[in-house]
Amino acid sequence: MGKAILFSAPSGCGKTTIIKELMQYFDCFDFSISATSRAPRGEEENGRDYYFLSREEFKARVERDEFLEWEEVYSGTCYGTLKSEIQRIWDAGKVIVFDVDVNGGRNIKKYFGEDALSIFVLPPSVEVLEQRLRSRGTDSEEAIVKRLARSAEELKQAPQFDVTIVNDNLQRAVQETRNVIEKFINE
Ligand code: ADP
Ligand code: 5GP
Repeated sequence: MGKAILFSAPSGCGKTTIIKELMQYFDCFDFSISATSRAPRGEEENGRDYYFLSREEFKARVERDEFLEWEEVYSGTCYGTLKSEIQRIWDAGKVIVFDVDVNGGRNIKKYFGEDALSIFVLPPSVEVLEQRLRSRGTDSEEAIVKRLARSAEELKQAPQFDVTIVNDNLQRAVQETRNVIEKFINE
């Protein structure tokens, strides 16, 4: 089994931003592209950010047992990790990077055990989280309300992760994340 780094946090905490910075630094990383039944947002591309599937196609793949884990993260919107992604990345001899919700993070950590480093990204405050979701400018008011409603419960689960990183100043948060990952990879 190869190694894996998994990032979880409520939506808007900065996982995607931090992962993008780290991908430029760690050549050994490859991002696990999840499947989702939501529509692309902003500049997102199929096969790069997500595999965008219809709800029917997503369900068919669940029936065919193609997912390592999947969740209906928001009502009506499913996200999941395809087993084929893990195979693809390990065949290339790379370290898998996951960006998953908090439940998915717990399930993936259970599956990989010591071979995974689980990282929880915290916002400096709930107020800042709300500001970031709004300033991202990619979600409808309804989606923002759903995401904030879910975040309180998710934030309580931070202590179950191996490491927590407060994403206040981005460069500081990236540096701190780099340090813990380097230690884990070289162990
Ligand atoms: P997530 O992937 O966790 O949903 P994003 O990476 O999309 O979150 O970040 C949400 C928004 O917050 C984006 O607009 C991003 O540019 C911004 N952001 C991320 N980190 C910081 C930071 N440290 N300071 C200020 N804005 C940030
Ligand atoms: P977004 O719509 O903002 O891209 O993602 C919403 C939430 O779904 C985020 O918390 C993200 O981490 C999570 N997510 C993305 N892919 C997966 C996945 O494969 N499995 C699970 N369980 N959650 C995922």
